Amino acid sequence: MKLQLLPSSFDEHGAASARQHLSCFVIDDCVAIDAGSLALAASAAQKKQIRDVVLTHAHLDHIAGLPLFIDDLFATLDAPVSVHAVPEVVEALERNVFNWEIYPRFSELENANGAVMRYQPFQIGEQFSVKHLRLKSIAVNHKVPSVGFIVLDDKTAFALSGDTAKTDEFWEILNRERNLSALLVECAFPDELGELAEVSHHLTPRTLKRELEKFDRKECLIYVVNIKPMYRDEVVRQIEELKIENLQILEVGRVYEW
Ligand SMILES: [Zn+2]
Repeated sequence: MKLQLLPSSFDEHGAASARQHLSCFVIDDCVAIDAGSLALAASAAQKKQIRDVVLTHAHLDHIAGLPLFIDDLFATLDAPVSVHAVPEVVEALERNVFNWEIYPRFSELENANGAVMRYQPFQIGEQFSVKHLRLKSIAVNHKVPSVGFIVLDDKTAFALSGDTAKTDEFWEILNRERNLSALLVECAFPDELGELAEVSHHLTPRTLKRELEKFDRKECLIYVVNIKPMYRDEVVRQIEELKIENLQILEVGRVYEW
């Protein structure tokens, strides 16, 4: 399985920056989990192939690129883009984004070939198939209805926490998964902003370490994602000081293969 976190900003030379402002993970160039930078940073080949977008939750940094992605492809789509999300997220998108005021309601529009976007709702805890992948959704602990996922193909699996604070269910379910090659876990704020992390339901290096003590797959590769860009250097330094085995920071733009 191939996985790439798409870039979302540029450094002063115009190259993709290591800072992650938005969330969009592309699997095997054809399925997106979250759509933060989908319209901005997907390659031409990815734009051609991605017709399934799976959402963890409705926060802006996870959905910002979705309206633009459908807009860019509007005239050329020969099949609708499927948006897989829990009903609360579908409702939030329809109410707050695709409401004719912020953007057109693409779920009601057609091009010459038919519908351009359709919702495929799933319930929290449900398993479902997307292309060649199986996804198990798991409730996590964030400010709004949010899920993490275990993503499986025929050979391997990885897990993604999405945005979350302290949680038990996610770890219990991961510990039962036999074939887990990698875990992508969030760590948004540095330790000194622990209070902000608590009210916004995110992790800091200290609380991440505590969460990882519940994870008993010590051979699994652990990648930290979703570090708030303004605190990246500080969070990375604090994580390195913890010397957690098998843990590294996921590199923006790099293609990982498990
Ligand atoms: Zn969030």
